[in-house]
Amino acid sequence: MTSLPETYHIVGGGIAGLAAAWYLKRRYPGIRSVIYEAGERLGGRAYSYDDAGLGIRLDNAVHAIISANRFMAAFVKKNEWIAKVPFLDMSGGGLSTSAFANRGHILKSFCNTAPEEIASPIKRNILRQTFPWTPSVRKVWFSGQDLSQRIINMLAGYADEVHLNCRLNKIAAQFGMAAQLEFSTGQAEVGSRDKVIVALDNLSCRKVLDIIPLEHNQIVNIIYQTSQRIYLPGGASLLGVTGGTVDWLFAGNGLLSAVISDYHAQENNLSGLAMKVWQEIDKIRGVNSAFMPPYKAFCCKNATIRQDEGNNLRRPRNALTSYPNVFIAGDWTMQNYPCCMETAVRSAIRAVKTAVKSV
Ligand SMILES: Cc1cc2nc3c(=O)[nH]c(=O)nc-3n(C[C@H](O)[C@H](O)[C@H](O)COP(=O)(O)OP(=O)(O)OC[C@H]3O[C@@H](n4cnc5c(N)ncnc54)[C@H](O)[C@@H]3O)c2cc1C
Repeated sequence: MTSLPETYHIVGGGIAGLAAAWYLKRRYPGIRSVIYEAGERLGGRAYSYDDAGLGIRLDNAVHAIISANRFMAAFVKKNEWIAKVPFLDMSGGGLSTSAFANRGHILKSFCNTAPEEIASPIKRNILRQTFPWTPSVRKVWFSGQDLSQRIINMLAGYADEVHLNCRLNKIAAQFGMAAQLEFSTGQAEVGSRDKVIVALDNLSCRKVLDIIPLEHNQIVNIIYQTSQRIYLPGGASLLGVTGGTVDWLFAGNGLLSAVISDYHAQENNLSGLAMKVWQEIDKIRGVNSAFMPPYKAFCCKNATIRQDEGNNLRRPRNALTSYPNVFIAGDWTMQNYPCCMETAVRSAIRAVKTAVKSV
């Protein structure tokens, strides 16, 4: 009689869940991995989709990777990195390329949290890994409209099975161990040698596991469909902006994306904000455009957890849960790290290593 190979049930098909399958295939090819994702697509908070309004393929949000993010950086081609990022101070300070002078701005973007609120260990970790801002760590890649094609689809190929539209509702336990996963579409038995990796966002995770809920901050993305390429000061395709509403501008062919991190207003109608930001873009470019181009604005309410001292202390210290055969991953699960794709990958590696070591 042949027994089924040991299976890792991975719940959540965001970067952390996909990275868990990737790491398993790389290091433990004999282990079978199955991803269960509640949504109709993989990628979680990072994906591309066909936008009916603008009639083009868009990323849900511009995602930037810096070369210090060594796992994520490995997915991106070397010739696509931007080596110098200019910063423009809209309150009159002009243009500068000093990352050190703009470190507060950089920290805010990394942590989606006001720089003065960011937990000190997170700040220290970022500064240690990214400063001094040498060419080897400071390069930036940003997604324009191909996050899924570049990263998500590539990672998805490592899982042995992927089930979409499959939401975990409950973990049923027997003798203190997870024995059955109850999904919206049916059940999956957890065999005696199997492990479960729960790679969910914090709010979804607390519905299935006894974990502490954390506070979240918003990010706004506005993507303007310009008829031609917009040139930013200094010919930059990526511009950090201080002293205004917008934080970052990303220029691509026919698209200009504006990002506002740690956004506080509770606006559902983002048209006023899109107009305000477009006026800022006009000011930055020294033009007075007659019309605002078509745009798509997203406000992601639970974009990341707020990375202040209180939330950081409440984050898990390891991948363990109250079930010895269930482990957690996700960008919010690693204390002292910023919530980003790199941390999602690192958390997945930690969860797999912990699971493999456990008996
Ligand atoms: C607007 C925005 C901009 C960002 N910009 C950047 C950036 O520039 N650089 C960067 O590195 N990071 C950025 N991030 C953060 C980055 O997107 C996240 O850190 C990363 O995608 C988190 O991945 P994750 O797998 O931990 O979680 P998620 O992506 O949240 O994945 C969790 C998955 O679990 C699924 N799920 C939920 N409940 C269930 C359930 N019960 N059963 C099964 N599946 C379930 C969800 O549908 C989701 O697919 C940004 C995020 C946002 C929102």
